[in-house]
Amino acid sequence: MSSSTTTHTLPTKFSVIGAGQMGTGIAVVAAMNAKVPSVNIHDVFPSSIEKSKKFIESLLDKYVQKGTLTQQEKEIILGERLSFSSGTDLSPMADSQFVVEAATENTDLKLGLFKDLSELVHSKPSSSPTILATNTSSISITKIAAVAKDPTTIIGMHFMNPVPVMKLVELIRGLQTSDATYERTVQLAEAMQKTCTLSIKDSPGFIANRILMPYINEAVNVLHEGIATKEDIDKTMKLGTNVPMGPLTLADFIGLDTCLAIMRVLYTEFADSKYRPSPLLVKMVEAGWLGKKTGRGFYTY
Ligand code: NAD
Repeated sequence: MSSSTTTHTLPTKFSVIGAGQMGTGIAVVAAMNAKVPSVNIHDVFPSSIEKSKKFIESLLDKYVQKGTLTQQEKEIILGERLSFSSGTDLSPMADSQFVVEAATENTDLKLGLFKDLSELVHSKPSSSPTILATNTSSISITKIAAVAKDPTTIIGMHFMNPVPVMKLVELIRGLQTSDATYERTVQLAEAMQKTCTLSIKDSPGFIANRILMPYINEAVNVLHEGIATKEDIDKTMKLGTNVPMGPLTLADFIGLDTCLAIMRVLYTEFADSKYRPSPLLVKMVEAGWLGKKTGRGFYTY
């Protein structure tokens, strides 16, 4: 996909909602790569914020040890650029020019957040309204935009996990997304040193998860049916298709709750049995075995 040609002003205040693995990574990349002067990370739970802070500190320490970040730059990022907030009050985001929502993959939760956020940032007309992007893996951007006061500012900005490492950002335009929103999002993604692709249609799972999730789900079915061990499923796909990790390891990294939520969106939206979530995936999520983030998934961590 080619770069945008129109130059817009990059945000000076950027916010992320959801301090999980994705939100934390997005905030780090905004503060470190794009050098956005003020980056706020918000989560409903103070415990998620604490975990996020610790993760960022150890990540930046690693970069300093490797020599890819100076100690001075680390101190600027931690002491000046990044800030944190928690609770249900969204007002710490009120003066942001760009917000990325990276909360749990749940349609009702995201619709509620976008309605409230848009009330907060779109109440006054502006020539450059705040962009509200979502990192959703599968949910309709058009549906999310429909609850916003200014639906032209809503866009899908789908980062890959782990965000500091993975180069790709998949962009998704809803029916209502304006050209200016799209151009400003490309510009920010490029300042974050990411490469963009565009899902031309706002279709469930977009490009990446339309292809990836049925693959992971089928790997879980192969395990569920006793066709092979988890180790041999992963080894077969790793060595057989030259990917860095097998599908069950990848599912553990993504989060089994997120994988299930995406399969449920594909299954419901396409009304096609080929997207039926694997019964084993459902059971593992019911057990609270969500993968790396809970210490147990297909493997233990
Ligand atoms: P996660 O479980 O690690 O984090 C989700 C965070 O959202 C948690 O800290 C939770 O406390 C917070 N949260 C829940 N409700 C909230 C609310 N109302 N307000 C603020 N914060 C709230 O999940 P994740 O893996 O970081 O995924 C987040 C989003 O990114 C999902 O939409 C997911 O589909 C998408 N995504 C995930 C991956 C992946 O590989 N995990 C990749 C691309 C996109």
